[in-house]
Amino acid sequence: MSANGYETVIGLECHVELSTASKMFCACPTEFGGEPNTRTCPVCLGEPGSLPVANRKAVEHTMLIGLALGCEIAPRSLFHRKNYFYPDMPKNYQISQYDLPLCVRGALDVEVDGDRRRVGITRVHLEEDTGKTLHVGTTGRIHEAVYSLVDYNRAGIPLVEIVSEPDVRSAVEAQRYVSELRSILETLGVSDVRMEEGSMRCDANISLRKPGEGFGTKVEIKNLNSIRSVGRALTFEIERQRKALDAGERVVQETRHFDEGAGVTKTLRSKEEAFDYRYFPEPDLVPIEPERAWIETLRGSLPELPEARRERIATEHALTPAQAAMVGASGASLSYFDRLIGGGVEPREAAVWMSGELARALNPAGVGIEETRVSPAGLAELIALVRDGTINLNTAKKVFQEAFAAGKEPAALVAERNLAQVSDTSAIASVVADVLAQNAPEVERYRAGEDKVFGFLMGQVMKALKGQGKPDAVQSVLREALGR
Ligand SMILES: [Zn+2]
Repeated sequence: MSANGYETVIGLECHVELSTASKMFCACPTEFGGEPNTRTCPVCLGEPGSLPVANRKAVEHTMLIGLALGCEIAPRSLFHRKNYFYPDMPKNYQISQYDLPLCVRGALDVEVDGDRRRVGITRVHLEEDTGKTLHVGTTGRIHEAVYSLVDYNRAGIPLVEIVSEPDVRSAVEAQRYVSELRSILETLGVSDVRMEEGSMRCDANISLRKPGEGFGTKVEIKNLNSIRSVGRALTFEIERQRKALDAGERVVQETRHFDEGAGVTKTLRSKEEAFDYRYFPEPDLVPIEPERAWIETLRGSLPELPEARRERIATEHALTPAQAAMVGASGASLSYFDRLIGGGVEPREAAVWMSGELARALNPAGVGIEETRVSPAGLAELIALVRDGTINLNTAKKVFQEAFAAGKEPAALVAERNLAQVSDTSAIASVVADVLAQNAPEVERYRAGEDKVFGFLMGQVMKALKGQGKPDAVQSVLREALGR
């Protein structure tokens, strides 16, 4: 419960495009980025007389998602027509599932600050995506373009909708839910889950209530396309509703959209404009009645899921839960970690580098670990240079950031810049002699018993060596020269 006396109630609906080779009800390819309207056929354009056939792989992918979320697979489920008129819907109805979805009653556990909470999954159902509309020019009035272009390449791509129970209690929890769901889908290999390309997008239903009271009036926020947006939109909306309720106003039931630039939610349409979809069973498709054996084969093929993976990594490599969560966040980060270890890096050290320097480089660049510009082998080499004393940790960190920015191998940069530490005692001794000559008063004070001056002299020598002196070597040469 939040401090101001309200409980936040959030339910999430996430849409995920499945990564099948062909569309949901026809043989058109699904690949992203084709010339507009080149990946279409009479079926996905809804031409009269064309007949849909369900994509077996899409049904399998949906069942895998259901099984990974602990759902029951319905012995019989149906496709329905959801009727509405919109230019990106060539058939003027969308084939979806209504009262008999493929998967029901599952759960997803999320952890916030060490607190584990279970979010119920109401249903996982299968449908088809719509096309894309591009609005061109502006008349000056809100939501009015001069003309619009429609691309049907996306129309008919298999889409899974995952609906949660209203069990989520904060914006952060909603973010964890989406992030964990995304990680599960990625692990299952059923979708590329690229939120920025729209292959995963979430709607959030949110309301506030006083503890012990029934649900408040809910508002739906549509099309949140990043985990960050989920957090920002919900944080804004919680505050907006709280202010309204505190002022004695009523929250209006409506659909809102999140304006990324302004960081606010805005009314899209009110409840009065809500559609009546006039659902009815799709007469051209047979019910889905998966055999027990098919379901069990799929259950047996489930990979290690993120939660189990995190626990295994933590135990196997003696990592903290936070480190294990970071390493096990995705298949790509786990593979990076494994390759670092394969390159001779200690597991804890690998985790520290990944959560430190690597994360620092990736985040502002907005790059995923799979596209990082320093390979695990390159980083392992750099860490080895620290271990054998060729460079110190500070230099290594600087080299890493430069290597990342320039897309170079870190070890090559060390050699190119001649950054190796000076450990040759005769070289150090001549610098030490110069420094002592230039700092006679300090040398006197040290010799008179003022121990703390040693640190100053040490600093002067390191500075003269441009930070490349090997600290233990410098220290011993300096002590010897000072004679105490
Ligand atoms: Zn087609």
